[in-house]
Amino acid sequence: MTRIVYLNGNWLPEADAKVSIFDRGFLFADAIYEVTGVVGGKLLEYPGHSARLQRSTAELGIACPLTPDALLEVHREIVRRNELREGLIYLQISRGTADRDFAFPENPTPTLTLFTQAKPVLDNPKVATGISVALLPDQRWARRDIKTVQLLYPSMAKMEAMAKGADDAWLVEDGFVTEASSATAHIITEDGKLVTRGLSNAILHGITRASVLDIAGKAGIEFEERAFTPDEAKNAAEAFITSATNFVLPVTEIDGRPVGEGKPGPRTLRLRKLYIEQKLAEAL
Ligand code: PLP
Repeated sequence: MTRIVYLNGNWLPEADAKVSIFDRGFLFADAIYEVTGVVGGKLLEYPGHSARLQRSTAELGIACPLTPDALLEVHREIVRRNELREGLIYLQISRGTADRDFAFPENPTPTLTLFTQAKPVLDNPKVATGISVALLPDQRWARRDIKTVQLLYPSMAKMEAMAKGADDAWLVEDGFVTEASSATAHIITEDGKLVTRGLSNAILHGITRASVLDIAGKAGIEFEERAFTPDEAKNAAEAFITSATNFVLPVTEIDGRPVGEGKPGPRTLRLRKLYIEQKLAEAL
């Protein structure tokens, strides 16, 4: 089956969807994106992703080409057209096309694209083992709260972590963990407290992060929003990442050292179960 993608109001077979070489997304990474998980043909956490999309475009002064309601309809339609049951929807909005110039063009027409990727997200074999992470310096730009397509450093960090035999990187800046290459980093201390970095321009404001904190609070798991050091992470009882397609995924090794007993922790697995139950029930 040929994948059908969305490009500026048109539904096209993927091979026919073409974007100009003058698109500012291509030339300047002048574009933002969102990734929404899909399970059972339904959208997970759509209101959160929609709100963050509005925030990212507003921060960059990019005109969002469709209303939130119209964008929701495009998300639903792309699921239908591709008969997507499980996987993700990627959405990108660039500022548009113009002759190459550092100054933004006046009144550009944004380029809006969406495509689907089918993949199992519920049955992730890494849930049973956890993932390993390598600590690496955070060399990204200073506005990580905006979800831009400027992902070269996260990609390089992931490659470096993999070259060290790890699954992913946890990035470190000024002596504190910021986040993973494409997920939020969390630890659970020996006394059972969930610790996650507070919101600022240093990290992406994860949609899954916000839901997990809400769920933790209701489940009686105490949490603290503050930065934590690499040493605290290495000595934590449990560690995990959160993201739209990983949900809550255990981290069982940091820089070659086991976290806790070196296997997925009970609180992490409980949070994953609660998160999935709640988000499937709320899926659109
Ligand atoms: N942090 C970074 C740098 C990310 O790229 C992502 C997801 O892509 C996240 C955190 C997690 O965000 P969310 O839970 O909204 O998927």
